Amino acid sequence: MKCPIPAALGAIVLALALAGPASAMVMTATFDSNYTDAEQACAQSAINQWQATITSATTFANSVRFRIVDLGTMGILASTSIGSGYAPLMAEGEWLPPGGGGGGGGGGGSAITPWDSTTFITIDLNSEFVDAGALAFGGPSDPVVGGKYDALTIFRHELCHAVGFSATYTDFAAKVTPVPDPYRTYTGTDFTVELTGAADGTHIPDATPDLMNVGLAEGVRKDISSDPDLKVLMDAYGYTTPEPATLAFVAIGLASVVAARRRRAA
Ligand SMILES: [Zn+2]
Repeated sequence: MKCPIPAALGAIVLALALAGPASAMVMTATFDSNYTDAEQACAQSAINQWQATITSATTFANSVRFRIVDLGTMGILASTSIGSGYAPLMAEGEWLPPGGGGGGGGGGGSAITPWDSTTFITIDLNSEFVDAGALAFGGPSDPVVGGKYDALTIFRHELCHAVGFSATYTDFAAKVTPVPDPYRTYTGTDFTVELTGAADGTHIPDATPDLMNVGLAEGVRKDISSDPDLKVLMDAYGYTTPEPATLAFVAIGLASVVAARRRRAA
């Protein structure tokens, strides 16, 4: 679940029903045509969970595009791309840089936020794994499937990037320093969190089990965690969340993590 930063997008827009209070976060999704109904339902359940978890009245100006594409042979299950300064070219079903070239940037130091109209977010599943039947697309009430990667966990992880857990976003990047080598540190108002080095995207090192680790093992489901995931998002963006008692966080197995590059050999 590494997360580089290109961009490309567009198709059928699905307006999602709010899963939380009327003031909660609103995110709409766009699914490419090769998404099955079951795959969309799995992704939507993860979106609904995030909408219920972030209760701030935050509306994403652009829909988040979900694709299933070949991400190459690096063993990556999925990735989230966050592009700034891109404009939609709906006729082609793609987002292109304004003016036809140059790429993101957002122009001269403009802040990049999850909800800005110039920020375009794409979540890609690797077709290598989808086509091989290596992913299980169940909902929260469905059992975890042994021997398959849990797509619900993947969507929860990628959506955590989308809503803010990414050094691509200005407010997050402002709190990140490149120490101690080879890691980085997120410094909040009264806490610090160790992050992976920039080459591994914005993640929690695998030594500390978390939804935002780099790697995911087969047959493992992870949930959004109050610490550090939500703690960091609340610190960086001022998001509000429901009282902890109303959130059902599952325990994360200590033996659940493997390095991303080892997946394909497994
Ligand atoms: Zn990731």
